[in-house]
Amino acid sequence: KVTYINYLLEKIVSRMEPIAKQKNIELKLILNEKIQIKIDEGRMQQAIINIIDNAIKYTQPEGIIEVELYKKEKHAIIKILDNGVGIPEDKLPYIFERFYRVDKARSRNTGGTGLGLSIAWEIITSHGGTIDVDSQVGVGSIFYIKLPLEK
Ligand code: ATP
Ligand code: MG
Repeated sequence: KVTYINYLLEKIVSRMEPIAKQKNIELKLILNEKIQIKIDEGRMQQAIINIIDNAIKYTQPEGIIEVELYKKEKHAIIKILDNGVGIPEDKLPYIFERFYRVDKARSRNTGGTGLGLSIAWEIITSHGGTIDVDSQVGVGSIFYIKLPLEK
């Protein structure tokens, strides 16, 4: 089904806003242009929610999360930035694996099974897309979902 990814992001962000607000985290949505794309809306919504859910979970109160949509060459890019705890460089290769969690002691009190990112990865790659991450401990993380605009 052809979907305006803008509307999907608006829907997701308004759904996640109350959860962010509980931690006094600002959840910003930056839509630069309208982008139409062929996706399985329900599954893609799940993938994006999993990433925003992490951004909220691994960011301290008063933090900031930005969700941004833009076009780059023949792709739609959804950028999800947070200024949270970050991920050590040597752990980055494993975060998309099933059941992997960076710091079991630290993340015990945040809950979770370590499946969210593996599910997101599966959904995004099955759409012909990719997911990449830039992160720095103590600074934050940026996840990039890249989806092809045409088949
Ligand atoms: P679940 O999603 O199943 O509830 P989870 O959040 O621990 O559990 P994933 O979403 O797969 O599992 O994430 C894997 C690990 O990557 C997390 O445990 C966390 O250590 C790290 N991580 C993911 N996103 C972020 C982020 N935005 N900031 C810091 N660490 C992150
Ligand atoms: Mg998660």
